[in-house]
Amino acid sequence: MKTIGFIGLGSMGRPMAGNVLKAGYALRVHDIVADPVAALVAAGAESRRSPKEVATDAEAVITMLPDSPDVEAVLLGPDGVAHGARPGAIVIDMSTIDPAVTRKLGEALKARGLRFVDAPVGRTSVHAEAGTLYIMVGGEPADVAAVEPLLRTMGSDVVHCGGVGSGITMKVVNNYLSCASSVLTAECLVLGIKAGLRLETMLQVLTNTAAKTAHLEMTYPAKAFKGDFTPGFAVDLAHKDLGIGLRLGAEQRVPLAMGAAARELYSAARARGKGRLDYTGIVTLLEEMAGVEVRRR
Ligand code: NAD
Repeated sequence: MKTIGFIGLGSMGRPMAGNVLKAGYALRVHDIVADPVAALVAAGAESRRSPKEVATDAEAVITMLPDSPDVEAVLLGPDGVAHGARPGAIVIDMSTIDPAVTRKLGEALKARGLRFVDAPVGRTSVHAEAGTLYIMVGGEPADVAAVEPLLRTMGSDVVHCGGVGSGITMKVVNNYLSCASSVLTAECLVLGIKAGLRLETMLQVLTNTAAKTAHLEMTYPAKAFKGDFTPGFAVDLAHKDLGIGLRLGAEQRVPLAMGAAARELYSAARARGKGRLDYTGIVTLLEEMAGVEVRRR
């Protein structure tokens, strides 16, 4: 595999594409925004005007787009990848989208003689930059084996979860827990501060009992405790991912009461204009209501 297409060059896609390029692959790129395309062209990639044109000479095409309708349009739309790709080429969707849409896309591409792997990522844009993402893969074993060296240019961990759709299902389950538990973390810290506890005391205790969560040791120290709410992983994306989790719950007839409540708090944050804050910014919504702040001074 020598020539790769990459569509969607945002917070995650731009550094991921940069790492593919650094590993020595020839890269064709496309985005509806000009700046990240220009940055990758300066680093050696070729710009293409449409997803279809990205696909014409690529052995694999990667998509890293916001949501299900974007991936559907880029793959199957009038100027989509499916209309330009060579028979046998592999499409790798690394976005976080609805698993039902992933399965449908996999079927549609297979019917056109193309191969499909879902490979969504865990961790953050910092890890995307460092090439240390956690990649959850769904696909036929031969297809997964064919794309693994390419995936390892972007991630330090690659886990094969099962057939097409199982990588994205794993990611949705993962984000259900991480997005819902960020809200619970924010509530707990605001409650403690309001009731007179010091942040450092709470962290000492909460990280040594069953209350321990990675939010207390990783995401909140990196962002919220510093008052830095630039995303990172945005409130809008947490809201989207919990929505996907709730749809999966409805499809599987599994009640998801905690996630439903958490999603409504992200809805409230968005209603207050906080959609583009980092998802630890959910704490600011609760801080405003309680009249306290959870910060390291
Ligand atoms: P982003 O909004 O920063 O980037 C998306 C990019 O896609 C933008 O550059 C946008 O212009 C481009 N785009 C949108 N529609 C397009 C189209 N029709 N054709 C071409 N380009 C198009 O989002 P992101 O943070 O990079 O996230 C991408 C995906 O990865 C999402 O599904 C997100 O949930 C998931 N994800 C994000 C993170 C994170 O920390 N940001 C972590 C893991 C997974």
